Amino acid sequence: MTTERALDVDVEPLSPQELTKLATLAIEAKASAYCPYSNFRVGACVLLSTGTYHTGSNVEVASTPVGICAERCAIAPIVASMKRPAMPTLRAIAVSTDINPPASPCGMCRQFINEFATTKHLPIYMYGKDGLQGEVVKMTIGELLPMSFGPNDMDRNR
Ligand SMILES: [Zn+2]
Repeated sequence: MTTERALDVDVEPLSPQELTKLATLAIEAKASAYCPYSNFRVGACVLLSTGTYHTGSNVEVASTPVGICAERCAIAPIVASMKRPAMPTLRAIAVSTDINPPASPCGMCRQFINEFATTKHLPIYMYGKDGLQGEVVKMTIGELLPMSFGPNDMDRNR
């Protein structure tokens, strides 16, 4: 069940305080990463239009393809906590790793984020090993996943 989404809608810009909180929570979420195989810590934080923040971290398992990335770890419980037809409205996502330049969401997560983004302008902020003091990369989901295949395309097949 999906509804046609106007993917060119502007998003409400984050205030400096909101961005700092989003980034800080994503950076802090790295401490929850369970990554004994890769030692590649990732923290993520999602800000919803309701003003709530939701974090996630990567969780690996011995059968490595079974693990889940921080971004999907953060988003899935939000979606799963709502009774349909309600869906969350994402305002921004922050992702934090320990490398410079900052890492971007993997292809699988880009597709996952795209599924729940209500606009292609959803901003994704990426932080590296120096956290708030280091380089931050900001890109939109539309830039990270151009020519995306998403819910609207499924609806067009009806
Ligand atoms: Zn990923």
